Parts: sequence; structure tokens; C-alpha cells
Amino acid sequence: MEIKNLGEFALIDLIKADTIHNKENVVVGIGDDAAVLIPASEKLQLVTTDMLVEKVHFDLSTTSAFQLGYKSIAVNLSDIAAMGGQPTHVVISIALPSCLSVGFVVSLYEGMKNICHEFGVNIVGGDTVASPNGLVINVTAMGEVDPKELQRRSGASVGDLVVVTGTLGDSGCGLELLQQKKWTEYEFFQPLVSRHVTPRPQVTAGVILASFGSTSMNDISDGLASEVNEIAKASQVGIRIYAKMIPLSAEVCAAARALGKDGLEYALYGGEDYQLVFTISAQQFSLISQDNLGTKLTVIGEVIEQRHGVLLVDKEEAESLLEPKGYNHFRQ
Ligand code: ADP
Ligand code: MG
Repeated sequence: MEIKNLGEFALIDLIKADTIHNKENVVVGIGDDAAVLIPASEKLQLVTTDMLVEKVHFDLSTTSAFQLGYKSIAVNLSDIAAMGGQPTHVVISIALPSCLSVGFVVSLYEGMKNICHEFGVNIVGGDTVASPNGLVINVTAMGEVDPKELQRRSGASVGDLVVVTGTLGDSGCGLELLQQKKWTEYEFFQPLVSRHVTPRPQVTAGVILASFGSTSMNDISDGLASEVNEIAKASQVGIRIYAKMIPLSAEVCAAARALGKDGLEYALYGGEDYQLVFTISAQQFSLISQDNLGTKLTVIGEVIEQRHGVLLVDKEEAESLLEPKGYNHFRQ
């Protein structure tokens, strides 16, 4: 059945089930003019929003409805994680072509509910409208953070280590594999494609790292090069990154070879990894036990004085400026 045969209200009724995963902080969810939430005392409120537009951010020939739903929430939770916060609620606005099937919308919400359930996040409202041209999904996420643990981009100090979670470049490489329809060695490359279509936000790590006194943090949505430049600019410092220390997965190394590319390029400029990059003093870093983080940490560089700029030391030990290239919507 197409959604035009069902109508807006019946569709919202379908969406409504299984949206509250943490009853403690919500009085009214979907079904009234506004959601009613219970704020945590002594906490700061975080709010972030991200919009996904068909043909700009996703292509329905390479992503399923479930994956799209999952990712549209994941990218927002990643922003809350990068502030050192715990996500609590989301509201979801969707603009749908009227020929879309009801099954598609149900799967989209299954993906959304799956990740919300995993992170204890409530879906408390949204808006549903018709779109004359392609699918648009806008998610707004709310979260909370202890004032002492708030992570901004502006707190890095000279001498801090620069550290990342997980491996970098997987998502960008996975996207290229999808676009080029490179199904050879598909089984082996599958994790790269998964990291592109269903990235896992580093919520647990963000909260723990903040509690250990990380000084600045950013999630890696536009590639490492862009994110470290943002930290350097906001913190008024320089940063030196060592290419040979950047963690690349075995899959990226193999896929890059197969594609005739350099795995490092995906890590620096690929984007959509949704890992975290943060700065922290060496002393505080030594106190972190990596067991509960759910991801590995890798030191990739250090914070230096602003006059040096943001530098990349390549594998031959040559140093050059690391330009903030990456995905930029309005750049030619
Ligand atoms: P109103 O006309 O008062 O703005 P709506 O009829 O648009 O209310 O929505 C009814 C309820 O359903 C509200 O609680 C709204 O937040 C929720 N809702 C509407 N669309 C969605 C959606 N796509 N996802 C989640 N909740 C939604
Ligand atoms: Mg109303």
C-alpha cells in the first residue's frame, strides 16, 4: 500500500508504537501538541539537529529504509556524544513522496527505533508532510551533560595529546565501494559498507572520556582533517598529526589497494566515520581504562602552539599543512 492511501493520521498511529525507551524522563510523547519532558536537575541541556536529503545524503539504491532510519538517528546521537553528553530524546520530521510504500515508512521507523532502544532514547514527536520531490528526514536530538563534563571544541591546550576512537576512513571507503558496485571480495569489505550505512555513534566513549577530563572533542563527520582544524581554530592552538599513527582497519587497507587509492585519504577527507577526536593531557589519558569504552583509542598527534598551524607529518617524516578539506555542501 502507498502512503497516500493511508493518510497522515493513520501513518502517525503506525509510527507511535515502541517510541518510549526510557519512561523516567517523559510525561507526554507522541500524541499531543507538544511533548512534555522532565529535565534532569543540575544538568545542561543539549540540542542538535541534522537533515538528510535524498540524492544529497543518501541514495535509495544503496541504502535500505531500515539503514536510513538508523543512520538518521545515529548522526544526531554522535553530535550529543561529542559534547560529552547522554542523548535522551529525539523528534523526527519527515517529508515523504506520496507514492512511497507504507512498508518503507514502517522499516524506516524500525531502524530509528532500533538505535533509540539501544541508547535508551525516546522518540517524542515530529511532523509528517508530503514531498513533491524526494525524501527528506530531519532529526532533532536532545541530551544532557554534567556542566563539569561539557566538551567543547575550544578547550585544547598546548601539550595535550590528540586521540581518536576506532578506525578512520571505513565509511568513506564503504561509500566508494557502494558507488562503484565493487562486489568482489564483498564479504571481506562488508564491514566498511556497514560502517557507512549504519554508523555506530560513540555515546558510551564520549561520556567516559569526558569524565576523565578530555579538554576538547569533536565527532568525525567531515573527515579528520576538517575536524582537527575546527578544534585548532576554536582552541586557538596548532595541532600536529602523524600519518603513520592514524588507525586504519585491515579492510580499508585492502579495499584501498583494490581501488587504487591511499587508505589515509579516506581517513583524512572521507567523512561520516562518526568516531570521536579529542584532546587530553598525557597524565589524564594514562588513567583511562579502555575496557569499558566499547572502542579502542589511538594517539595520533599533539597540540602545539597556534603559530605552527595544523600539520601532517607524512610517512617519510615530511611535515606539511593539513588543509581542512572534506565534504562541504556549498563548495564547488
Ligand atoms: P499538530 O497538528 O498538533 O502539530 P500532528 O498531527 O502534526 O500535530 O502530530 C500529532 C502527533 O504526532 C504529535 O505528537 C507529533 O509530534 C507526532 N508526530 C507527527 N509526525 C511524526 C513523525 N514523523 N514522527 C514522530 N512523531 C510524529
Ligand atoms: Mg496541534
